[in-house]
Amino acid sequence: MIWNEPKECMLPEERSRLQGKRLHKLVDKVYHNTPFYRRKMQEMNIMPDDIQTVDDIVKLPFTTKQDLRDNYPYGLFAVPMSEIVRIHASSGTTGKPTVVGYTRRDLSIWSEMIARSLSAFGANRHDICSVAYGYGLFTGGLGLHYGVEHLGATVIPMSSGNTAKQIQFMHDFGATAIACTPSYALYLAEAMEKAGNPRDEFKLRMGIFGAEPWTDNMRKEIETKLGINAYNIYGLSEVMGPGVSHECELKDGSHIIDDHFFPEIISPDTLEQLPYGEQGELVFTTLTKEGLPLLRYRTKDLCSITDEPCKCGRTSVRMSRIVGRSDDMLIIRGVNVFPSQIESVILEMEEFEPHYLLIVDRVNNLDILEVQVEVRDGYYSDEISKILALRNKIAHRLHNVLGISADIKLVEPYSIKRSEGKAQRVIDKRIFN
Ligand code: ADP
Ligand code: ZN
Repeated sequence: MIWNEPKECMLPEERSRLQGKRLHKLVDKVYHNTPFYRRKMQEMNIMPDDIQTVDDIVKLPFTTKQDLRDNYPYGLFAVPMSEIVRIHASSGTTGKPTVVGYTRRDLSIWSEMIARSLSAFGANRHDICSVAYGYGLFTGGLGLHYGVEHLGATVIPMSSGNTAKQIQFMHDFGATAIACTPSYALYLAEAMEKAGNPRDEFKLRMGIFGAEPWTDNMRKEIETKLGINAYNIYGLSEVMGPGVSHECELKDGSHIIDDHFFPEIISPDTLEQLPYGEQGELVFTTLTKEGLPLLRYRTKDLCSITDEPCKCGRTSVRMSRIVGRSDDMLIIRGVNVFPSQIESVILEMEEFEPHYLLIVDRVNNLDILEVQVEVRDGYYSDEISKILALRNKIAHRLHNVLGISADIKLVEPYSIKRSEGKAQRVIDKRIFN
């Protein structure tokens, strides 16, 4: 079902007109209410009336995470605190957290965005959704929570952790949907199997997964293990939270809620806007946000966008999966490596569990990449020759994909630490050298 057909299926010209109108209003608002933006615009010699259509967006300044940190905690808010009804903070994956504030209207738009996502996944008011994203300052838990309620489905506010109880309640309460990180979904699947819970005793049919990069191979793994349909939901607290984009039942890229968030792809080096189809850094302008409106916020997430129509009928621009964050990119002996490339190789091979850890170090001035990966039960062997053959097989495939060699360490199932939230898959020891 399409939740908000007039908005989600607008004709491209109609959407573009709406975006232009909203953009002009936004720029006018931040110019008058946010000293930070007024200063930036004055420095660049731009007045709000210079911005009339979405094509004018390239004249506007960028905003970075550092700008939010420099104005910690409330410096970029565009309304008085009396209008702010909720605070969240980014999870701080890459440093000091950034603080975001929402007006009542912001929260209602956010819930609507998530209701759009859930409908696109095929959820409806008969669903019972266990929200296992963390509740609290992190936007995952409360974001999904109010979205599920807005859809009219039933929410089980589990929050993260306490895996045994998660499983028991999903079972006893007849949960049909689970929302959590993809890495936690795998952990849950494993724990269910270990506890001897037969899958057909669960009513689960759908997973709502995001908050960290994951691959299509990971999707297949989760879908098979849990017997569900797994969908991608993307977002970031600075822009709103989960639901900035979502897949539809076709699973062919994620629809961006672009009547509220205008997307651009830029080259992180030249900062020039790139055409549809090219990979670069995703940038968002919040067209309707009141509490913390942002002009051209640089997400650091790398992907591409397309305006090719989707068969589902939604006409918004779609984004590819996130390849990684520019901060996640490892430069090993001068070669760019994304953890997602390694994940793809591991998950294509049936000999391995989808659990891995990358350790990067520098020994004698040379970068070393160690890939620890769990060998699946039944493939582990006491015979040295078999283990060596397996190691060579994966080493060879990784070399083909990455263009550099890695030290492979095969480990037993369950030996790599599982995550309840965002997985930490890289330990870069060079930072401390
Ligand atoms: P932090 O930057 O501290 O992790 P957030 O909790 O707001 O703050 O996380 C937002 C980030 O999480 C995004 O910028 C992106 O890197 C990642 N993310 C969120 N959803 C997805 C997704 N579906 N696929 C890939 N990455 C995602
Ligand atoms: Zn679609």
